[in-house]
This record gives sequence, C-alpha cells and structure tokens, in this order.
Amino acid sequence: MKIGVLALQGAFKEHEKMLTALGVKWCEIRQAEDLSKNLNGIIIPGGESTVISKLLIELNMMDKLQHILHTGVPVFGTCAGLILLSKQICDDTTTTIGAMDIEVKRNAYGRQLGSFAANGEFLGIGTIPMVFIRAPYIKSVGKNVQVLCTLQDKIVAARQENYLVTAFHPELTADLSVHKYFIQMVIDNIGNN
Ligand code: GLN
Repeated sequence: MKIGVLALQGAFKEHEKMLTALGVKWCEIRQAEDLSKNLNGIIIPGGESTVISKLLIELNMMDKLQHILHTGVPVFGTCAGLILLSKQICDDTTTTIGAMDIEVKRNAYGRQLGSFAANGEFLGIGTIPMVFIRAPYIKSVGKNVQVLCTLQDKIVAARQENYLVTAFHPELTADLSVHKYFIQMVIDNIGNN
C-alpha cells in the first residue's frame, strides 16, 4: 500500500509523520507525473486553499487529480484539503477539485477563534482531540454524505463513499485514530477491487 501526500504547500510533513507512525508507506505528490504512480490513497493537507488550487491548475494536476478521485481512490482532506474537495464554497470563487457534495464556509470561526483546540465525538472512533487553524466548517451536505463529527453545532468531519474530510488537523495532535480510520478505508477499497 502506498499513500500519496499532496506536497505543494501547507502541512504535508505532519501527515507523513502520522503515516510513518502507522507503518504506512507514502510518497509526495509534487507534479503531475507523481499522480501516475500507483497510489492507493491520497491526502490533501491543510494550508492555503487558494494557493494550492492555483498550483494544481498551473502544474496541470487538477484534471488528473479529479480523474483519479472519480475512479474511487480514497482521499483524505484536512482543512484547506476539505475546502478543495468541496463542490461549493460560500461567497468564494476558488476553483476546487469538487469531489464532495458539501458546501463549506472558509475562515468560518472569525478572528478571535482563528486557532483553537477542542475535544469532539467522531463517529466510529469516540472522543478525539482536534486542532482548528483558521478553519472552515461544512455548512450543508448532500444526501450521500455522512456527518462524522459536529462541534458547536457545526459539521467538522464528513465522509462520502471514499472521500473523508476534517475541518480540523488530526495530524497536529498525537492521536492517530483519524489516520487509522482513513487507512482502513484504503484497505477496504483495495479489498473491493
Ligand atoms: N484558512 C485556510 C483556507 O481557507 C485553511 C486553513 C488551514 O488549512 N489550516 O484555505
């Protein structure tokens, strides 16, 4: 099994550390050719969604990534990664990969709450620590989307088939459980093919 970590901008190193801690092989996706490698799963990290979007287009990676995700390769997006996987962003024209039937609000917690930590209940895992950094939240979900975690009445994690997103950064905590959850999705997907 090999996971590709999108490494154009943002907090990709932290995801790589989590994967290493779980004994999972990974490689960095830095250019379009890297998407041709046989990847069993993809992680899209936090960072600045506008910058990552621009780079994906400039480097001719957007279409290729969309195609790979349409074939059902599991993907895990955190924070900016969540924004990039959404079909719609509130009051924003950033081009997204548009895989998931969710509407998101960027920088949704205001200035004072720009960064904060909390504990929340994650469906199928239990209570986990969560770190939010100028985070988005999910404003609405389509009928195929399962809500996995809400905090302060806002949806902060969801899944649609092989797409998993969190508004928070599990990779900035010591808790491996959300990454384990994703790796299980990848294992299940390999088993089904
Ligand atoms: N505020 C960033 C954006 O809108 C996301 C922040 C993050 O990924 N931690 O892209």
